[in-house]
Amino acid sequence: MIEFSNQTGPNFLIDSHCHLDCRGDSVQRTAIIERAHAAGVVALINVESAETIEANRDTIAIAHEFSNVYAVIGVHPHDAKTATEEVISEICTMANDPKVVAIGEAGLDYYYNHSPRDVQQHVFRRWIRAAKELDLPLVVHSRDAEEDTVRILREERIDEGQVVIHCFSGSRDFGKRCLDLGCYLSIPGVVTFKNPGDIPDVVRLAPLDRILVETDSPYLAPIPHRGRRNEPAYVVHTARKVAELRDMSFTDLARETVNNTCRFFRLPLPI
Ligand SMILES: [Zn+2]
Ligand SMILES: [Zn+2]
Repeated sequence: MIEFSNQTGPNFLIDSHCHLDCRGDSVQRTAIIERAHAAGVVALINVESAETIEANRDTIAIAHEFSNVYAVIGVHPHDAKTATEEVISEICTMANDPKVVAIGEAGLDYYYNHSPRDVQQHVFRRWIRAAKELDLPLVVHSRDAEEDTVRILREERIDEGQVVIHCFSGSRDFGKRCLDLGCYLSIPGVVTFKNPGDIPDVVRLAPLDRILVETDSPYLAPIPHRGRRNEPAYVVHTARKVAELRDMSFTDLARETVNNTCRFFRLPLPI
């Protein structure tokens, strides 16, 4: 068990969404977590990204190995076709573990279409209902599927503050509609890119208490690490950009996002 010490320095953040699986390489994983800690990232939300029950078990085991690493378990929309009722029910049972803080990634990915769209939609609805029954928040992945994401979230009557749109990189209109439904938005390193689309606009229009920051590592490293393997330590660059867009100090922005992340995932405040 590695303990994170309390950290009140200028870099004081939580990576609200990363993938620490490292293909079973635990030495590499420990090094990544230690570098995050050294950079002032006080907690990590580690999200399962493979489709198997075994991989979900590993995600929970990693959370038990490190005090400030938490687990989000589920089946990625890419693999929705593997999310049978048996799989969903087994994952729901596993979600009773105290280090499991949310269900996810659930949602729709119409960019890759690795699972048929109708199957993705059905499974998305199942996860929304399962998370409600478990009284856990839901981490939503949405790519090239803005209309259907909003429609399903609305039809399923999600509760205020119980859904985060992770790796938000959609349109301004999508951002507004998700906020109207009571969602949090988690801002990825894409906001630091030369062509960040509507993300800066959405960062400015969102209420401050609805913004989280994330890496989605190992993908999408922010500038100045773009093109390299991303890791939770780099969430600092994303937060710095968000602070600049909000015209506020880094320290204030960091504190707000830590509070938001703790409220959303119901974590004890790290300080
Ligand atoms: Zn995702
Ligand atoms: Zn992810």
